Amino acid sequence: MSASYGYAAVSPKAPLAPYRFDRREPGAHDVQIDILYCGVCHSDLHTARNEWGNTIYPTVPGHEIVGRVSKVGSQVQQFKLGQLVGVGCMVDSCQTCASCAEGLEQYCENGFVGTYNGPEKQTGGITYGGYANNIVVHEKFVLRISDKLDPAAAAPLLCAGITTYSPLRHWKVGKGHKVGIVGLGGLGHMGVKLAHAMGAYVVLFTTSPGKVADALKLGADEVVISKDEAQMAQHANSFDFILNTVAAPHNLDAFLSLLKRDGTMTLVGAPDTPHPSPTVFNLILQRRKLAGSLIGGIKETQEMLDFCAEHGITSDIELIKIDEINQAYERMLKSDVKYRFVIDMSSLPA
Ligand code: NAP
Ligand code: ZN
Repeated sequence: MSASYGYAAVSPKAPLAPYRFDRREPGAHDVQIDILYCGVCHSDLHTARNEWGNTIYPTVPGHEIVGRVSKVGSQVQQFKLGQLVGVGCMVDSCQTCASCAEGLEQYCENGFVGTYNGPEKQTGGITYGGYANNIVVHEKFVLRISDKLDPAAAAPLLCAGITTYSPLRHWKVGKGHKVGIVGLGGLGHMGVKLAHAMGAYVVLFTTSPGKVADALKLGADEVVISKDEAQMAQHANSFDFILNTVAAPHNLDAFLSLLKRDGTMTLVGAPDTPHPSPTVFNLILQRRKLAGSLIGGIKETQEMLDFCAEHGITSDIELIKIDEINQAYERMLKSDVKYRFVIDMSSLPA
């Protein structure tokens, strides 16, 4: 075992605080990474506060990890010491089920292993995430990060990037499509950038009038204040696809009624309590679809990172020191994030 350190929550109400723990020694197929940067996802907050009811304490959140390889197991061939790499939301899966065989490890039929709060097969313990000095990960779950990308601003691609890229690709978003992105937070701002880069006409829906100018700069063609019924009504029956990233329960009908016949709204936001059920007629009258999507597989995550390197896409970030993490959570709850906090891990006390 190797001694690691980071920041953990020890109970739902406790602020995150310094925490020491052990990582497994890298096995033959493992890569050890010294973490440079870790993005702050709303899922980290949901988990730290046990909002999904499944947190095992103490929990070390963080699944938008960028760092450099500091050790490799004897069988590792793809990664070299010093290489810039990333780790996203998963660190393992069964590798034998039909989903894993298709490169869709996030839908592993035996359950994927989350980067934190997941059952670690090798030790029988639980996984600890990226708010830490280092991490040990099976090579299959390590991603290559191009030197063309700023490493701090690339970190959020590992969750916010892939969680928006994957559904945009699955529903074949591209030129000639009118696409809505709901919520301009970490996921939403990546959704705007990626949908724009894929050639779609992008409309951003926000509850925050102060974000309109930013959304247009990020690549939205139009911005709609979703609480303004008159503005919403102008877009009725006009969208091919809507990606909803909102982290709180809200009225889905307001958005479903904006879809064209056969249009789809995909939910990626994961609130702690359910959305009110939408009206069935909103679905059946125009054969509309309501769907969900979970992060993305490893192959697709690498494809997304390469797409971002090619198109010069990273996240708009606010770099913070690790002792600012609790304030960052409070600001995230007020939708006051522009547009992803990233922890500079050099601020972590040894
Ligand atoms: P975030 O940065 O906090 O952004 C969420 C945005 O939703 C806010 O900036 C805000 O945008 C909007 N919003 C928040 N509360 C709202 C409310 N009451 N009504 C309407 N809009 C509201 O969060 P994030 O990191 O992007 O994560 C978003 C959600 O996705 C979280 O639930 C997270 O757990 C989940 N998630 C899911 C996956 C997946 O695989 N499906 C992966 C990662 C994260 P405006 O100010 O523009 O309205
Ligand atoms: Zn996340």
